[in-house]
Amino acid sequence: MGQHLDAEVIVVGGGPAGAATAWVLAREGVDVLVLDRAKFPRDKICAEYLSPQASRILSDMNVLEEIERTNPGHLAGMSIRAPNGHIANGEFAANHGFRGFRDKGLAVRRTILDEIVLRGARTAGACVEESMRVTDLAKNDSARVTGVKALAADGQPRTLRARYVVGADGLRSVVARRLGLVRTSRVWPRRIALVSHYRKVQGVTDMGEMHVDHDGYLGIADVGGGQVNVAVVVPMSRAREIGDDKTEFLERWIASRPHLAERFVGAVRTTPVRATGPFATSSRHAWSPGAALVGDAADFFDPFTGEGIYAALRGGELLAPYLVEALGRSAKEEGRILSGYDRARKREFGGKWKVERIVGLAIAYPYFLNNAAKILSRRKDMADLLVGVAGDFIPPSVVLSPRFLFNLFISPAFRT
Ligand SMILES: Cc1cc2nc3c(=O)[nH]c(=O)nc-3n(C[C@H](O)[C@H](O)[C@H](O)COP(=O)(O)OP(=O)(O)OC[C@H]3O[C@@H](n4cnc5c(N)ncnc54)[C@H](O)[C@@H]3O)c2cc1C
Repeated sequence: MGQHLDAEVIVVGGGPAGAATAWVLAREGVDVLVLDRAKFPRDKICAEYLSPQASRILSDMNVLEEIERTNPGHLAGMSIRAPNGHIANGEFAANHGFRGFRDKGLAVRRTILDEIVLRGARTAGACVEESMRVTDLAKNDSARVTGVKALAADGQPRTLRARYVVGADGLRSVVARRLGLVRTSRVWPRRIALVSHYRKVQGVTDMGEMHVDHDGYLGIADVGGGQVNVAVVVPMSRAREIGDDKTEFLERWIASRPHLAERFVGAVRTTPVRATGPFATSSRHAWSPGAALVGDAADFFDPFTGEGIYAALRGGELLAPYLVEALGRSAKEEGRILSGYDRARKREFGGKWKVERIVGLAIAYPYFLNNAAKILSRRKDMADLLVGVAGDFIPPSVVLSPRFLFNLFISPAFRT
């Protein structure tokens, strides 16, 4: 006799990755249960910008209209200020022959976005249990994952069984750690982030802003409703300095840069400053017998290019069909099927991972970023291409070509 199952698939985490996975599974008729330790609406430390292509997935999930009704921000592109003061502006709608699902990216509070997206999964037929924290995985004698151990809001421990467990539980995924799949990046600089919201910041437009300096960078985005998201990302080495007073650190960072300080005169902070980090983790394989990872649980580099939400949603779209296939076959075929998921992730995200690494190195070594910004401020066509890649609608290969990289990083060294 087989064991009683609480669901065919248990998804741990109801953020964008978990909700998208559950949405596709439910639409395919799979009995899926999402567990989240939080009670929604819940906040998430994030710069809250979504690439234009994220709207395609939100539209497919039938939640885009509802998000639009909440009056979110809409970003026409990105403006990057290098440490030397050069500013490069790239727009999503440009003359490069590529077109995104939309000409603008969304910028929306995660308290709003995540609740709507998770509701979309519920509407599609997924069961969702909030305030249910997963503490461990249940495994059988052959170390195959057979379910999860969880603590309900009343403190009662429970074991829930499923044929598959999906780890969509974010940056510090319990599922990924219990599977032993987490790798901390050695090449990627480790950073921490401080995020808050302000009203009445001057000069905010429909361009998302990145202000890079020698000791980190600050992002500004209008998230609608008169609120501006302000996120500072600094190297791990500053952790001690941040200490207990995150607000003081964030405000000092702004005040010590005149071009930012003058724009924050009269600004009012509306949410507490929250911190997270370090990031930079990835998993060599995103599955193990009876389990798979998606979203930040599978990999997370750096928020600079702001694509985590798209990658989480798209990751759910990628994973679900492999799980559906695996559910319909014998366990012997699982390896072949889920290796396909690893390959699909590499095909889908491999180019972006390379671009992210290059951007990360440019931020870490301002000499390169200064040179690149000098070029991009004169070559808007190149800035538009880069922003289109970050916007998920231009293939990364376009900017990974030797010619593009030479023009961006090497040629400035030969100019005056
Ligand atoms: C500073 C910063 C700025 C960022 N800015 C951007 C940006 O502008 N644009 C962008 O696209 N991305 C950005 N990102 C990345 C983005 O936030 C993530 O990539 C995205 O949220 C990943 O979605 P997810 O569903 O994988 O994880 P999450 O959104 O983290 O969701 C995970 C869910 O799992 C739940 N959970 C966790 N542990 C457990 C457990 N043990 N049991 C049950 N439930 C659990 C949590 O409550 C949560 O609801 C930023 C990240 C950081 C840190």
